[in-house]
Amino acid sequence: MSETKSLPKTLDAVIVGAGFGGMYMLHRLRALGLSARILEQADGVGGTWYWNRYPGARCDVESMQYSFSFDEALQQEWQWSERFAAQPELLRYANHIADRYDLRRDIHFETRVASARFDEAAERWTVTTDKGEVVSARHCVMATGCLSAARLPDIKGIAAFKGETYHTGYWPHGKVDFTGKRVAVIGTGSSAIQAIPVIAAEAAQVTVFQRTPNFSIPSRNAPMDEAYEQSWKSDYAARRREARTMRTGILYAINPLSALEVDEATRQAEYERRWENGGTAFMGAFGDLILNKASNDTAAEFVRNKIRGMVKDPATAEALAPKDHPIGTKRICVDTHYYETYNRPNVALVNLRETPIDTITATGIRTSARDFEFDVIVLATGFDAMTGALLKIDFEGRGGRRLSAEWEHGPRSQLGLMVAGFPNLFMITGPGSPSVLSNMIVSIEQHVDWIAGLLGHMQARGLACVEATEEAQADWVRHGMEVAEKTLYPSAASWYMGANIPGKPRVFMPYIGGVGVYRETCDAIAARGYEGFRLA
Ligand code: FAD
Repeated sequence: MSETKSLPKTLDAVIVGAGFGGMYMLHRLRALGLSARILEQADGVGGTWYWNRYPGARCDVESMQYSFSFDEALQQEWQWSERFAAQPELLRYANHIADRYDLRRDIHFETRVASARFDEAAERWTVTTDKGEVVSARHCVMATGCLSAARLPDIKGIAAFKGETYHTGYWPHGKVDFTGKRVAVIGTGSSAIQAIPVIAAEAAQVTVFQRTPNFSIPSRNAPMDEAYEQSWKSDYAARRREARTMRTGILYAINPLSALEVDEATRQAEYERRWENGGTAFMGAFGDLILNKASNDTAAEFVRNKIRGMVKDPATAEALAPKDHPIGTKRICVDTHYYETYNRPNVALVNLRETPIDTITATGIRTSARDFEFDVIVLATGFDAMTGALLKIDFEGRGGRRLSAEWEHGPRSQLGLMVAGFPNLFMITGPGSPSVLSNMIVSIEQHVDWIAGLLGHMQARGLACVEATEEAQADWVRHGMEVAEKTLYPSAASWYMGANIPGKPRVFMPYIGGVGVYRETCDAIAARGYEGFRLA
């Protein structure tokens, strides 16, 4: 898949990352006639779906919606096999995008960007790769992903383990065979919830080490229904348009009523209907679930009762039932038989709140209560989300400003697209934009289109430099915090808040104002001649 080609010395644009964001950006920049290359550390395209090959890896947004909308022929021709696509199919789709738009000839694989320095006199970025190659580019677009910097836990003794160790976010390309093996899974976030039922069906024994339980809704995944597919394809343009106005960028019915406005029987019936339907649309049961704790409690208790009903051992059920955060304030998970898996005789749960891990040993894991022996340890310990991949690159902006210093107390940006002091540097789904709170393909398309619109605007006027103003950035950061504080989100110790990374500032990073409102804001700013940006 990978090939060696030399990097040009100068380019109009460097794009970092060959996931969906980087690939669509390259396609749009080519249409503007700009010279652009993607630098990608992996040896293939797909980003998230290249790296996360763990068993059970699957999208939580329905296939008919988690797909590009920019090309009518593409969305008509591509056929998804399931309601929620699994990782191999998503990776095939990513490869199809690369081939269909002939993108590979401008992608440099196995090339990690190590640093980028803004040359003020030339108004260009000097980008340096891990191989020491240097390229000068007018613009830099970071398509580095919100969930691409895997977090390895700092558990004592982790290097001592003599068995196999895998992180879900760096899964090997070949099949990992669990047959007859004793497997530990550390973590119970979205990846673990997807992987555990599949691993348990194969392994001799699975022991799950849980610190914080998460809420999960059954996916009700199924082979793609032909009539359903056709209902979308016959009306794709209009449905996509409507999805772009939704808070999450996903088209599903949101009940505008408060959960407290209806009687108990009506409330339970609505939750039951959505539970049976499956997926994240559960959170649309009432309009105030993320705003009002009392409303949220009714949904959270409904799910806790479902868990109690599904898991036969009462102590295990109680340990799996989340009580420390309102439902939806941590990424809501979507599963296939997750809770039922704990009824299997070969699956056990260790509650790390009661018996924390003391150390990893050569043969397994020692908690405060006992020693366990394992053949395999699966680390499902998540990501340094939203800022992790960006801050791994040493950015030096105007006047020697370092991005790591600018973001010491949390990420600051104008619209999650640009950072004051870092001209001509763009982020796709950066912190300060809806990003991880949305159908990310919708948000990627919106950002790429907006950036392409701005670069086209500059091209038409012979402008070389764009930079967010400090004032506009300060206003956007303030607004983002104000909106977040009206919701229940900041009350949870989530990765949205940076809470999963020791020492990371606790700031709510994505923009919760909604995909529709955010798009209107971005469009209005463009229509006013890119207000809040200095163009020269
Ligand atoms: P990515 O796909 O993360 O791609 C970024 C690329 O940049 C990677 O290939 C990486 O190797 C490369 N890169 C990073 N830093 C450098 C560097 N310094 N030099 C060179 N290359 C670099 N989103 C949804 O909307 N719905 C879902 O259901 C959903 N499920 C998910 C499940 C998992 C397990 C994960 C991890 C994420 C999920 N996401 C989901 C989010 C997902 O990341 C996005 O949907 C989307 O794939 C992001 O595309 P991207 O191009 O922005 O970033």
